[in-house]
Amino acid sequence: MSPTSLPSSPPQPSALPPSNPVSSSDPSSSGSSRTAISNPHSYPQPPYKPLLRLEIRDLSSSGTHAFLRLLHASDTLSYAIDTVLRSLYTNLSPHCMTPTRSVTLILRSMPGVAYTTGKDIDSDHKEIHFSTDYINAVPEARQKEEMKGVLVHEMVHCWQWNAQGTAPGGLIEGIADWVRLKAGLGPPHWKRRADCDWDAGYERTGYFLEFLEKEHGSDVVRRINEGLRDCKYQEKEFWAKCCGRSVYKLWEEYRASLKEGEIEMESPCEEASGESSANAK
Ligand SMILES: [Zn+2]
Repeated sequence: MSPTSLPSSPPQPSALPPSNPVSSSDPSSSGSSRTAISNPHSYPQPPYKPLLRLEIRDLSSSGTHAFLRLLHASDTLSYAIDTVLRSLYTNLSPHCMTPTRSVTLILRSMPGVAYTTGKDIDSDHKEIHFSTDYINAVPEARQKEEMKGVLVHEMVHCWQWNAQGTAPGGLIEGIADWVRLKAGLGPPHWKRRADCDWDAGYERTGYFLEFLEKEHGSDVVRRINEGLRDCKYQEKEFWAKCCGRSVYKLWEEYRASLKEGEIEMESPCEEASGESSANAK
């Protein structure tokens, strides 16, 4: 098609997702994981079935080639949403969920790994920016798992609460990596380490949350996320309600549970993950 044959009318905004809650009779939600609302161990449907979009800024880049060759975008984003909702909202009602209405995956050249943001006009519409340069730099044997892991991490940011912006950034990132860890998508270089504070973020805090899960119940991260829903974060009260003691005491207990090599200060407070520093959330 020549450029002159393109329509001259300005582009129109995409339609909003349907405003009706998804019903179990919706044929597009007929997967077993999406219909088991009455199952006491299921997770709820979001109030709006999120619209998924894919935007490719450079179709010819090697990173884009790898993405399209190894992943089915729609299936992978749906898988990531299912994984996140199961991890954060099992046994909770739909009104506990974030009002996320759409998720757009943007593949583009940029420094770093990935970040998630809300659209300026309406933060219920999320954008996941994923670096094609980073994808291209991952060894081929790891590419598929790494892309899925990064997408699950970023998808957590589309659905988690942050105490009206007052939650520690390290806790937000730790929850994202905890979900990735529980999905079996933690990369091989991750390890348990307590050479920093509890809120160092990423896998360091993710493994701490895994420890809390063992000690304080399998729903502890769901309770943490739920506790960040409506009110501002107040550390002392928050952790006392969650686990009955201060987060520093909990971190001490975690440190005591680790082996020697996992505690020492090898490279204190280094960036624990390669996620883009542009990721504020
Ligand atoms: Zn993150």
